[in-house]
Amino acid sequence: MSKRRSNVLAIDDTPANLMALGAALGDEFDLQVATSGEAGLALAREVRPDLILLDVMMPDIDGYETFRRIAAEPALRSIPVVFLTALDGFESESVGLALGAADYITKPINVEITRQRICNLLEREQLRREVEKQRDKLEETVRQRTAQLQDRMEELQAIFALSPDGFVSFDQYRRVSQVSPRFSLLTGLSAAAITGLDDRRLTGLLADLCVDKARFRGGHPLDLVPPETDMNRTPEWEVIELKVPEGRTLAVTVRQCSSSSVSLILYLHDITRETEIDRMKTQFLEMAAHELRTPLTSVLGYTEVLLSQSFDAQDHREMLGIVHQQAEHVTSIVNELLDLVRIDSRKGQDFVFQALSLQELVHEAVSAYKPAPGRREPRVIAAARPLRIKADRRKLVQVVANLLSNAYKYSPGGGDVCMEYAESLQEGVKWCGLAVRDRGLGMTPEEQTRCFERFYRVDHSGKVPGTGLGLCIVREIMDLHGGRVEIQSTLGEGSTISVWLPECLES
Ligand code: ADP
Repeated sequence: MSKRRSNVLAIDDTPANLMALGAALGDEFDLQVATSGEAGLALAREVRPDLILLDVMMPDIDGYETFRRIAAEPALRSIPVVFLTALDGFESESVGLALGAADYITKPINVEITRQRICNLLEREQLRREVEKQRDKLEETVRQRTAQLQDRMEELQAIFALSPDGFVSFDQYRRVSQVSPRFSLLTGLSAAAITGLDDRRLTGLLADLCVDKARFRGGHPLDLVPPETDMNRTPEWEVIELKVPEGRTLAVTVRQCSSSSVSLILYLHDITRETEIDRMKTQFLEMAAHELRTPLTSVLGYTEVLLSQSFDAQDHREMLGIVHQQAEHVTSIVNELLDLVRIDSRKGQDFVFQALSLQELVHEAVSAYKPAPGRREPRVIAAARPLRIKADRRKLVQVVANLLSNAYKYSPGGGDVCMEYAESLQEGVKWCGLAVRDRGLGMTPEEQTRCFERFYRVDHSGKVPGTGLGLCIVREIMDLHGGRVEIQSTLGEGSTISVWLPECLES
C-alpha cells in the first residue's frame, strides 16, 4: 500500500517565497499555498493540512495573529505550525514558540534541513495522533467498563437490599464493611453498630444473642468455620437459635472470597418457619400415630377377644359395635388428612361453585350431625330473610360440620350449642355470616390466634380426640371461597366461631 503524501499548507505574502518552497518541497509533499493570513485560514479549514508553514511578517493579519486564530479553532488547533520568516531575532523566535508553534525556521531556508525538520514534525504528529487514538479508545473502554461496573454494583446493591437473607461482608483486614438490611432485621445489630468491627467481635456479638452461646461455632474466629471457596458446592451450614431480638432459628455460613476488597461473606438464612413446620410435622406425626393407635388398639383387642372366646349374641354385638365405631374414628382421621392434602395441592380447582341457600346448607349439615348421647341437638336461630351465597356445597357443609363438631367437643361439660345467622355491609358488599356458639372451655387470646395453624392443638389432656386440622381445613376452604373466619372466645366461658361469605345476588 502506497503511503499517503502529507499535505502541507504554506502561508506567505510573497509569491516568490512560495514558489521557492514549492520547488524545494513540492516533490515530497502536496503543497497548498495562500498569500494572506485570512486566505490561509480559509484553506486550512477546507483541506485540513497535516502541517502549516506560516510567514510571520504579513500585511493585514500577521503570522502571530493567524496562528492565534488557528489555535482558537478546535478543528485546526492540533495542526502543527512552523513559523517561517526572514526575521532571525531571538525575540521573535521566543514569541512564536511561546505561542505554541511546533518549530521555527528562518529564511533563506536550507532545503535539506527544512525538509528533514518537516518530516520529523510530521512523524511526531503522526505518533501523537496514534497515541491520541489509542488514548481515546482506552478512555472509551474504561467508560464502558465503568458503566458496566456501575450497573453491576447497582444490581448487587438491590439484591443485597432486597434479599430475604442477611449478609455481612468483611474487607481485606476482616473488618465488617457492608451489612445488609435483612441482617440487621434478623439479628437486631445495626450497620452503624457493627461496621468496622473485626470478625471475632462480630461473631462474639452474635454468640451473645444465641440461646446456647457455647454451641455457636461461629463464636470462635471465623476462620475456624471451614471457608467455602467453591461456589458450586453446597456450603456447610451451622444452625443457631437466637433468643433476641426474637426467637429465630438461623442457618449461618461463611464464604471466603478471592476479591482484593472482600475477604469473607457471612451469610444468614432465616429457617425459623421451616424449623417450626418441621417441629409441627413431627409433633403431628406423633399425635396422628397416637390418635390412630388408640382406636386401633381397641379394634385389635376386641377382635382378639372375639376370636378367642365365645360370647352370647348380645355381648358379641356390643363388642362388634365398638370395633365398628373405632374403625370409623380411624377413617375420619385419615380422611381429614387426605382432605387437607387435597385442598392444599388443588387450591380449590376442583371446587364446584354454585348459588346456594345458606339456610339449606346449614340444615343439611345439622341433619347429618349426630351429637354425642346426652347432648341436645344444636339450636338454630332462624334468619330474618333467605341468605344466598356462592359456594361448593360439599365443602361448605364440611365447614359447618367441623365447627359444630368442635363446639360439642370443646364443651365437654355440656351447655347448648347455638347457630345464628348474621349480615353485615362492608365497603358496599353485603356479607352473610353463620356463628356457631358454645358454652365450653373457651380459649386464651394466644390460643385464638394459633388455633387455625396446621397441627396446632390446645388440648393437652389427650382426652379430646382430634388432629389439629379441623380449623385449618375450615380456614383454607373459606379462603378459597373468598370468605373469612372470625373467632371470639373467653377462657372458661365458651367460643363463637363465625364464617362469612359475600352475598350472592344470582338466584
Ligand atoms: P382438633 O379439634 O382436631 O384438635 P381443630 O383445628 O378443629 O383441631 O382445632 C384446633 C384447636 O382449637 C383445638 O385443639 C381446640 O383446642 C381449639 N378449639 C377449636 N374449636 C374450639 C372451640 N369451639 N372451643 C374451644 N377450643 C376450640
